Amino acid sequence: MIIVMKKDADESAKDEVKQILKDDGLIVREMLENGQAVFAAVGSISKEKSFFEQLKGVDSVVRITAPYKLVSRQVHPEDSLVNVNGVSIGSEKIAVVAGPCAVESREQVMAVAREVKRYGGVLFRGGAFKPRTSPYSFQGLEEEGLKLLAQVREEYGLGVVTEITSITQADLMMKYIDMVQIGARNMQNFELLKCVGRMGKPVLLKRGLSSTIEEWLMSAEYILSEGNNNVVLCERGIRTFEPYTRNTLDLSAIPVIKNLTHLPVVIDPSHATGMREKVIPMARAATAAGADGLMIEVHNDPDNALSDGPQSLYPRQFGQLMRDIYVIAPLVGKQVDFEYLDKEKSRSKKMDDGVTSEESAAFLGEPGTFSHKALIQYFGESVVPKSMVSFKSIFKAVYDGEASCGIVPIENSLSGSIHEIYDLLIANDLKITGEITIRILHNLVANPGTQVSNIKKIFAPPQISAQCRLFLNSHESWQLVAVKDSASAVAELKKPENKDNAAAIASKEAAEMFGMEVLEEGIESNPRNFTRFVVVQKEFNRADSPKSKSSMVYSVGNKPGSLFQIMKIFADHNVNLVKLESRPIHGKPWEYLFYIDLEADATSEEFKPVLEKLQEMTDQLRILGAY
Ligand code: PEP
Ligand code: MN
Repeated sequence: MIIVMKKDADESAKDEVKQILKDDGLIVREMLENGQAVFAAVGSISKEKSFFEQLKGVDSVVRITAPYKLVSRQVHPEDSLVNVNGVSIGSEKIAVVAGPCAVESREQVMAVAREVKRYGGVLFRGGAFKPRTSPYSFQGLEEEGLKLLAQVREEYGLGVVTEITSITQADLMMKYIDMVQIGARNMQNFELLKCVGRMGKPVLLKRGLSSTIEEWLMSAEYILSEGNNNVVLCERGIRTFEPYTRNTLDLSAIPVIKNLTHLPVVIDPSHATGMREKVIPMARAATAAGADGLMIEVHNDPDNALSDGPQSLYPRQFGQLMRDIYVIAPLVGKQVDFEYLDKEKSRSKKMDDGVTSEESAAFLGEPGTFSHKALIQYFGESVVPKSMVSFKSIFKAVYDGEASCGIVPIENSLSGSIHEIYDLLIANDLKITGEITIRILHNLVANPGTQVSNIKKIFAPPQISAQCRLFLNSHESWQLVAVKDSASAVAELKKPENKDNAAAIASKEAAEMFGMEVLEEGIESNPRNFTRFVVVQKEFNRADSPKSKSSMVYSVGNKPGSLFQIMKIFADHNVNLVKLESRPIHGKPWEYLFYIDLEADATSEEFKPVLEKLQEMTDQLRILGAY
């Protein structure tokens, strides 16, 4: 039962309701939604709905219709995040758990972990107690295997996940492991479910070989009802009549689960397909379908693996898979963050050092803007967002040390480079230390009930109206009013004069935040609309991870072949350029500045010879960043 209290209900009314529920022996969860206290009560309720409805301060009472209660979205409308060794599963960052099927030896786990980390996996998996179909197959290294997993965490900083097959292993798991896995064969081992519920460690709950989604969620309910909310669901394929794959991967479970429960969902294409060459395509599809993470079997020598060799990826294939999902994730509003663990490490190091002043990141506009979204996707919860009124004020705040970094858009795939940012980078001598690309979806937003035929005015910042040119051309009579960012565009609609005859272009999030309605979705001229944001700081990032990309700016005199000479230096040194753009220099007609992005670390020792040659050939040369 869900009991929603009135906005003005006082503490004594809330306490009374809570007490009645507790006296009935129910599990009570308290939440706050839209400023209203909400109680979710689970168990066998002896009183009628009408009894609660007449209590003081009660607004409404709703029955939880599903058989599973604590895992249902009705009880917890927000997505749940499950934290495993600093990795937040269920967030906008896709969490990839990878490693061998079974822990075989110290050499093997260390070799695989090195590759998993290198290519961007954030958690390490490996079985120490293996549930095998045949009693004559390798059964796992048991406690020795758990110790090796703990050494992997020590050495590589990757949290470790392993399967628990019996309640007698609980103490060992508590000692060595960050997340316990309930295997498909044990999904309905209720004693084991209750045991991991009491352990309190994060649980990866695999779907049973022939289980329905409802049975799977009921198993999760066992764990939550013991007080452990840290459950991640893992779809790993179900038994069907199809022999060409080991199992049939039920990707439709993703949207179903997202609707029914707040728990995160991870996809295991390795056990689902049973064949290496099928793993990458299904991992791509799972990402596009909105999975919160992937579990992938990787082995350094799959041909000699002691279990599940045929489905284990070679490390290089795993690297390819990571690159593929890096590209796909932004389409569905998510990210693969190759620096996730480094960021986490530097954050916990700061905490160890006793640095209490929190890092802050300056961004343009208000929460609800795309800049804010980029900030959240890049930093997660690890920085304090600082709202700024202009790009200039962002750069000033970073330069003056009032913000530790800034995040600004530098380039859009439809409207091109944002030159003001390049000018500010040069004028303030800040460095680019990171980048993130997000897909930009624009919507026509207005007060609820507004008719499109009534619209006379539309609010949007210039760079956003440029991305919706075709849509705006089809509404030529509308007056286009430029504002500074998309959140202020929506804020304009709150004014009485804009109540029913005005609209704004903005994200869904901004519309929701201001209680507005989306009249038309996806009004950008081309769906391939991405904006690249960069993180700017006072100094280059000196973290240990190598930088794969750099940005530079240079000018050359108006001499024949001068651009060619520069290009030749890059060609001779095998440096790949990923962007080259020219721009007139103010006050020097027909002389140009060139912006380039290249796939190399321009601050490294190896790059020095290239840099020296470039310096000889250019009038001005600046490294804008390495990231
Ligand atoms: C495993 O992850 O190695 C495993 C045995 O998985 P499942 O329980 O899904 O078969
Ligand atoms: Mn396996």
